[in-house]
Amino acid sequence: MDKNKMLSNPQETIKVIQENGFTFHKKYGQNFLIDSHVIDKIISVADLDKNSRVLEIGPGIGTLTQYLAEAAGEVVAVEIDDKLIPILSKTLAEYDNVKVIHGDILKQDTEKIFGGAPFKIVANLPYYITTPIIMNLLESGVPAESITVMIQKEVAERMQASPGSKDYGALSLAVQYYSEPYLAANVPPNCFMPRPNVGSAVINLKRLETPPVSVKDPEQMFKLIRGAFNQRRKTLANAVGNYDGVAFSRENVEAALVALGLDTRVRGEALTLEQFAALSDELDNQK
Ligand code: SAM
Repeated sequence: MDKNKMLSNPQETIKVIQENGFTFHKKYGQNFLIDSHVIDKIISVADLDKNSRVLEIGPGIGTLTQYLAEAAGEVVAVEIDDKLIPILSKTLAEYDNVKVIHGDILKQDTEKIFGGAPFKIVANLPYYITTPIIMNLLESGVPAESITVMIQKEVAERMQASPGSKDYGALSLAVQYYSEPYLAANVPPNCFMPRPNVGSAVINLKRLETPPVSVKDPEQMFKLIRGAFNQRRKTLANAVGNYDGVAFSRENVEAALVALGLDTRVRGEALTLEQFAALSDELDNQK
């Protein structure tokens, strides 16, 4: 398809919206892409070829979907808004490698979407559910090789933050346990219609075959992490001791920190993923 005929410019987007009497739904986080350079960047970062299967979350009017259909072998796009389904059947009519599913991504059995075969996720995500979508995908073990998504800039920075920085927290540790994050581009509000109130960024999460640290009980480690950042201004021992999600007292945590050669007054934000793994294992040893 001639790229000039595509939807990735403000005039074509307005035309499709007006012709179909569509009105934006704020509750669905609808900010449609209107900049072809940004879409080219997403496609190049996603590293697609004709053997690739792609799951797109929230195709909107199909702007990014058209590019995905041209670059990949097979595309499945899940859209929640029933008003967009008839529009998509028109804008994607000439692509026989695209299937649109009308539904909520959080309720889909994503593992079965390509019959268990590996796939890549590419999306301009609805910002109100970025974290649950990404955490579900990472934790559920679906065969997603990579996730390339437009998200709020601040969330992208949290995903790749290092210990000691203000952005470092439970999300950084979870993302970095399952994947290698790469912040590929910052994207200003004028690349969307309507403009979001926040800056955006394209992030690529490459799934790791094996986690970068070994820990006996990853579930327990993540509970400790949640506890540590639940009250991030407190010491790690106090925050975990006060947290209902785990049964360890402040004294248990302090003893484990001493055994690991760490200061008992350390805060969670100073600990690396390796140190959280060691802390979790040490607490098990002391049971
Ligand atoms: N991909 C389009 C683009 O880039 O122009 C639209 C992106 S817009 C930021 C997010 C899209 O996700 C909207 O079409 C919205 O209706 C859809 N959406 C919101 N919540 C959803 C959910 N729970 N499941 C599936 N789609 C959802």
